[in-house]
Amino acid sequence: MPDPATSGSNVFYRKLTRHYPRIVRGEGCYLFDEAGRRYFDACGGAFVVNLGHGVAEIATAVGNQARTLGYVNGTAFTHDPVEELAAEIAQLSAADLELVYPLGSGSEAVEAALKLARQYWIEMGRGAKRKVIALAPSYHGNTLLALSVSARPHSSAFFKDWMVEVIRVPAPYPYRCECRGKPPYCPACSGVAIEAAILEAGPGSVAALIAEPIGGSSTGASVPHEGYWARVREACDRHEVLLIADEVLTGAGRTGTWSALEPYGVVPDIMTLGKGIAGGYVPLSAVVTSRAIADVLARGSGSLAHAQTFSHHPVLCAAGVATLRYLRGNRLIERCADMGRVLHSRLSALRDLPLVGDVRGRGLLAGIEFVADRETREPLARSAGFAEAFTQAALEAGLVVWPNIGHADGHNGDLVMLAPPFIVTEDQIDEIAVLFTRALWGAAERVGVAR
Ligand code: PLP
Repeated sequence: MPDPATSGSNVFYRKLTRHYPRIVRGEGCYLFDEAGRRYFDACGGAFVVNLGHGVAEIATAVGNQARTLGYVNGTAFTHDPVEELAAEIAQLSAADLELVYPLGSGSEAVEAALKLARQYWIEMGRGAKRKVIALAPSYHGNTLLALSVSARPHSSAFFKDWMVEVIRVPAPYPYRCECRGKPPYCPACSGVAIEAAILEAGPGSVAALIAEPIGGSSTGASVPHEGYWARVREACDRHEVLLIADEVLTGAGRTGTWSALEPYGVVPDIMTLGKGIAGGYVPLSAVVTSRAIADVLARGSGSLAHAQTFSHHPVLCAAGVATLRYLRGNRLIERCADMGRVLHSRLSALRDLPLVGDVRGRGLLAGIEFVADRETREPLARSAGFAEAFTQAALEAGLVVWPNIGHADGHNGDLVMLAPPFIVTEDQIDEIAVLFTRALWGAAERVGVAR
């Protein structure tokens, strides 16, 4: 057995069986380790580093705020950074999404959003509305309620006994759906499956549907067809089900628009944001909703029953304000859309490579799915560990990607995601494609799968 990663360190590492390069600095799209080795951060960490590394304006805003006011209790005071952050987010979001509840992580935002939905119905005098519908595959976070709505078996295996029951509906996943993403659409891709699930559960018992507007890593950036969300919205309206759009990964401009739902012309009742809203400089997330929903609580219990010491935190909010102003000032969401088109046109060449089954996504969010057979779409045997081998080969080539497994059937399935910072240039996109191809050969050799 190799030396555990913890020998000689006091850190309880994310992976206890491997040794990590020690990163000492980030600049633009690159990370540098202690030996001076450069890595292309092609997934912005975990879909977080939207502005690039080392932006002085954000560091200054964080430092200034920490000097001016580091912390106040959010139940006793308000302050400029939280007021400004809420105004910035409200301005960027669809008309009704006006109220912003800042938290620290995406999981916290998902927990709070689901609690808000439940509390809303209870305070409306409709306590029977308690069930939640969620898609499969999906990912919404790792705290127990967020894990319960997620359909990612390898994350929840140890905790099944503690999770709450959720109604599962197949996610629109064109590469693996019956209809393969082409009309006539299957129930998963058309959205019909969601209305069927509401009717089967009994509309009077369903509180909310939570979903990622464009799939995150669990469906590898799968993009539902253009009519999907309108159909789902209609079903939610018809049956009085709150629509929670989990934009933790896709929001803050990642898909080339502020929210991934925006191009569908659909407004959710509740939206969660996280990851990129503070560019990775501090942890920050948010629940965004309408005054109409918050007013029900205001007239009833008087508050959202989700108290956290560090919600509405001045320094975190100041980082968010600086990030959103930087995005706006440098037109980085527009740039994300433009560079996204370049990324997807360059990545389409990967389809000719062996083992590459599909390349998809929108904006600067891309998923590349590997398969054993491109005709039948048969996944690689999980025992080959291809996604892991690819990620390691990519790291050795100097490229950081985000792997995911299990999406094909709950166990098999290998894909990697790309989500470079919005400042990425065309030349750097070429660099990603070259390093990606090198990693593919390296991984195929490593696990001995046919090219
Ligand atoms: N929601 C989505 C769509 C995510 O992709 C994630 C994380 O990957 C989360 C929620 C949870 O966010 P966090 O890891 O910040 O708790």
